Amino acid sequence: MGKKIIVAGGGHGGIAAGMLLARNGFDVTVYEKNTRENMGHDWTDIFDKKGFTAIGLDLPDKSLWKLKHDMTFYGPAMETALHQNTPLDQLEIQMERRDIYNYIIENAEKTGVKFVYGCEILGAVLIGNRVVGIKTNDGEILGDLVIDAAGMNSPVRKSLPAWLGIQNNSVDYEQFYVYRAFWNKTAEVDDINKFKILMLHENKLGITWVATEEEHTDVLIGRFMPFDMAEVDRTMESLRKDNDSIGTEIQRGGQFVNIPVRQPLGVMVADGYAAIGDSAFMTVPIIGSGIANSFKAAAILADAVIADSDMAFSAESLWKYQTEFYKRIGSGLAPLACVKLMLTRLEGHELDYIFRTGILNADDMTIGADSTNLASMLGGMKPADIKIKLTGLINNKVVLKKVVRMGLELAKATVVTAAMPKKYDRKAVLKWVKQYNSCFKH
Ligand SMILES: Cc1cc2nc3c(=O)[nH]c(=O)nc-3n(C[C@H](O)[C@H](O)[C@H](O)COP(=O)(O)OP(=O)(O)OC[C@H]3O[C@@H](n4cnc5c(N)ncnc54)[C@H](O)[C@@H]3O)c2cc1C
Repeated sequence: MGKKIIVAGGGHGGIAAGMLLARNGFDVTVYEKNTRENMGHDWTDIFDKKGFTAIGLDLPDKSLWKLKHDMTFYGPAMETALHQNTPLDQLEIQMERRDIYNYIIENAEKTGVKFVYGCEILGAVLIGNRVVGIKTNDGEILGDLVIDAAGMNSPVRKSLPAWLGIQNNSVDYEQFYVYRAFWNKTAEVDDINKFKILMLHENKLGITWVATEEEHTDVLIGRFMPFDMAEVDRTMESLRKDNDSIGTEIQRGGQFVNIPVRQPLGVMVADGYAAIGDSAFMTVPIIGSGIANSFKAAAILADAVIADSDMAFSAESLWKYQTEFYKRIGSGLAPLACVKLMLTRLEGHELDYIFRTGILNADDMTIGADSTNLASMLGGMKPADIKIKLTGLINNKVVLKKVVRMGLELAKATVVTAAMPKKYDRKAVLKWVKQYNSCFKH
């Protein structure tokens, strides 16, 4: 019998890593609080299809996905429309969350991964520094390695002792509070306004989207602070005035959820423990996409576990997962967390100025499948654009100050992230993570 791997929570990355490990002879079980039928949310997601390739799966049947529609960005004054023009090979796919789950669960089961549903995880079981299992509502379950895929509020990560250097909780401005529902569609919309992203809508700190699809109108209200149903009702009323396509009947969804929008977890491994997906905050900080990154991380984690010839799954051997993740993905995400922090400091009229004067233009907002770092997002900037951007900045001292602050923070975050210890040494890692965490203060 292979070494026993516990996947704590049925997050995307955990199931995918479990699939790759079971294929290599490991004994993998996923413990999940939901029932099988309730896996995943009742909505669609947009993500890079290369996520499937990373975990060795073909794209699901063509009937299950379509290419995403380009988005149009507006500031609160709604005066400048920045419409994306994503090259075809960079367009992400849109797929039902439940179909994504069906596909990865079926493939994981084929390799021998076992699933225990209706199992509420309460925390980690530790012996000394080593995570040896999970506490559940059915008692303790022990294993050789715990892969924490229980999402951004993972009770496993939250229960780990401070001396491991793994941040238990996120702080203000690191998560998005979201209300999302699909409303009955009451009008057709021109192509450019099919997927509207309203930034700092009504001068509230957050992003709202109105996506008019074939069967419904998908509205997502996202804020950096919690809000209630009365605020949803008020915002919907206001949105309906400018968007004829939003009806008053909820057809699907209609719940409050959270998305991490922050830098990846500074330390994501310990003896017998590795965090993945939202539990390690792997979403793209500005846009909150985390599915493809979770799949890509799963392949990196599985490689590190398989390469551990002693099968000790110590922090030292799992550090390879962390460094490789940062090399390929995390080092691009961390600076984006600084850009997000700047957005949280902007006033609505400043964002309108940035859009109106071309400091940010449609090309900058064209976020494709490979846009997982700042260089790729701003890549290909033309000299004429640079002149426009600089003129805009020079003419507005307040915006300039905020952008310069962001630039300095971004440079620090880039340098500190690159200085991550190459090998796991607890003292060096704790010293480094303190510096890393200090780069992302509101
Ligand atoms: C409204 C919204 C829209 C989004 N849109 C997109 C998008 O378009 N594209 C994209 O790429 N990403 C999107 N995301 C982000 C995406 O959902 C995550 O980044 C991605 O799913 C990776 O998270 P995860 O699977 O690791 O964690 P989760 O999706 O949080 O899954 C964690 C799993 O662990 C289980 N669990 C949690 N706690 C316990 C417990 N105590 N005991 C047992 N099981 C537990 C949960 O039930 C769940 O099954 C969106 C998120 C939200 C909220």
